[in-house]
Order: sequence, then C-alpha cells, then structure tokens
Amino acid sequence: MVYRKRWQHDKIVRSTHGVNCTGSCSWKIYVKDGIITSETQQTDYPTTDADFPEYEPRGCPRGASYSWYTYSPVRVKYPYVRGDLYKMWKAEMDEGQNPVEAWSNITSDPEKRAKYVNARGKGGFVRASGHEVCEMIGSATIHTIKKYGPDRVTGFSPIPAMSMVSYAGGTRFLSLIGGTILSFYDWYADLPPASLQPFRLQN
Ligand code: SF4
Repeated sequence: MVYRKRWQHDKIVRSTHGVNCTGSCSWKIYVKDGIITSETQQTDYPTTDADFPEYEPRGCPRGASYSWYTYSPVRVKYPYVRGDLYKMWKAEMDEGQNPVEAWSNITSDPEKRAKYVNARGKGGFVRASGHEVCEMIGSATIHTIKKYGPDRVTGFSPIPAMSMVSYAGGTRFLSLIGGTILSFYDWYADLPPASLQPFRLQN
C-alpha cells in the first residue's frame, strides 16, 4: 500500500520542478521504493552578504505539491481538443479536404465557429493524436497568415530556464514567419507585467 508509506523515505535526492517557472529552487525530494513521497525546501544556499537577506527557504506552493501532481490520475499526458471542434475537423478531413481549407471552412462559418468558441471554459475535451493536433495548428496558422497577415499570429514558448530548446524553437518559428512574440511571463503570470524591465531581476 503506497499510502501507508506516504511519509516514509529511503533516500533523499536534490531536484527542482519543470513547470514553466524558472525551475531554480532547490528541493529535497523524499523517495520510498522508487516513488516520490514528499519534498521540502533545501536550506543550503550559499550565503549572500551581511546586509542582504538570505535566499532560503525558496519555493512556492505549486512546487510543494508537485510530488502529488507527478502521479495524479488527471495529469495531462496526451493532446486534447475541444470535442465540438474535433468532430467538425474530423468531418472535414473525412470528406478529403485540404487541411488549410478544412480549418477555413470551420472558422469562417459563423455557426461552426460559435460552436467551439462559445464552449470555452466548459471543458469537453477529447483525446487526439499528436499528428492531428499538429495538423490543426499548422492549418490554423497558415489560414491566419493568408487571411490577415503573419503579425496576427502571436505566441510564447516555454521559459528558457525550463527548456532552452523549446523556448528557442517556438521563438525562432514566430520570428521567421513574422509573427508576434509575447513574453513567457504572460503565460504563467507569476510576475507583474513588465516587472523584469524596471527591476532587472526575478524573485
Ligand atoms: S518551488 Fe515553485 S518556483 Fe521554485 S522551482 Fe518549484 S515550481 Fe518553480
């Protein structure tokens, strides 16, 4: 019974969290039989200076609950698409439509568009394949560029501290197509807008 071992551990390892924060806080991860059971903040940061507050303890509630999230049955592991949109997309593709035409047919039809836009915030996602989702995103991007211009495509990729390759891939893509790059802070929103610009540091 794993839950009986909830607060046990046979080893402690050092790690952090990759949840699109900077992943910079140091944590003690308690492990029992290869399963993460809990975690607490490390307190062994190098000292700063006599007239400067020390770092520790450093960490947020999101990080403290990460050991539960790791094994959660509701953890998202696959691509999901809003059900109504997925049905309309499948119907278009079953008719043999070119994917960009398929997206155009859905989004340019006020009734079809309302169906998936008005469903926002109401759940109803269904699992799709990675290929289908990439095809939808690619088609929507091409449709938008053709109809409105590339600067109407806006986006942000993961914070570089979490994944430099993912950050660079997304940002370069937007740069090359002439899109608009937002800050990753706009996504995870744990800083006031533009706080880095005036203060030049985080935390
Ligand atoms: S404690 Fe919070 S801010 Fe620090 S690495 Fe973990 S999730 Fe990120």
